[in-house]
Amino acid sequence: MKINEIGEQALIKEIAALTASTADREGVGIGDDAALTRVADGTFVATSKDMLVEGVHFLLPGITAQDLGFKALAVNLSDLAAMGAKPRHAFVALALPAGTECEFVLDFFRGMMELAKSYGIAISGGDLVASPGPLVVSVTVQGEVRREQALLRRGARPGELVCTTGSLGASAAGLALLLQDIPCSDKVRAAALQAHFRPRPRVREGLWLAAGGVVTTAIDISDGLLKDIREIMEINGCGALLYEENIPVHPAARAVAAAAGRSPLDFALHGGEDYELLFTVPENAFDNLARAYTEQFGRPLYTLGRLTGENRLQMVTKSGKWEELVFAGYRHF
Ligand SMILES: [Mg+2]
Repeated sequence: MKINEIGEQALIKEIAALTASTADREGVGIGDDAALTRVADGTFVATSKDMLVEGVHFLLPGITAQDLGFKALAVNLSDLAAMGAKPRHAFVALALPAGTECEFVLDFFRGMMELAKSYGIAISGGDLVASPGPLVVSVTVQGEVRREQALLRRGARPGELVCTTGSLGASAAGLALLLQDIPCSDKVRAAALQAHFRPRPRVREGLWLAAGGVVTTAIDISDGLLKDIREIMEINGCGALLYEENIPVHPAARAVAAAAGRSPLDFALHGGEDYELLFTVPENAFDNLARAYTEQFGRPLYTLGRLTGENRLQMVTKSGKWEELVFAGYRHF
């Protein structure tokens, strides 16, 4: 059986089963945004690892070394944010073609440090090796979280609201601008490219949501809203019903979609790399949470819909039609 026949998720499940006999029973292992391992009473280390491959996740010279360094750390911090963990350390391994300029590598770390400084994260080690092919960036991040506060993917029930920490689709709009010649204003272009090259992980928001104690599950939107929501559905044995009029499409995604003759909703549902948090919360806790969130961060929380007891993902369109939603975004295999 080949990977592209069974898919990434199925292979990860097989690996989890193969390695289950030595799994950490106190913590959380394969299958969430980060692993949790106990270091002292009540404190757990959250560890996450994400890899970026030239030609798959980024193109050179399409992205600058600084942006690549910033983004490589951002996508990893987003996983810690989805656990409600406080980031502490990053370890950075690079596989580099032998002719790579030293200044490229230093610029990569300059970009990474811009983000590291804003959260007080130490770049604590790593590895440099030669690559006969593409440039590969592998980052591991570690953070701290109390076990009882950690936001996991498991724990939601039908009826709970499905929410996000921000609007969606701007990163996909940025990617569309890189791949196609789409006329749009400088302001829209800057916003979309910023979202694509320099996503802001919701670290403070994740910590805040975890401390509040009412959020039941969380995941970061890395692959695309529909794929990430399916992950929550599958783990919790739920379905979901979304309302099109509630989907928070980023203004830059609307503008780029209009200029390109594409659907803004597609950017928001399938685009991916938004790095907002997707989370579930009981309906009776939402109003207080949303009010406090806006006081804290000056931005709203969005309710996209709710979890259902049926094993299907549906959307009520603006015209009142019910549609089945199928993820049509990027898959690795
Ligand atoms: Mg994630």
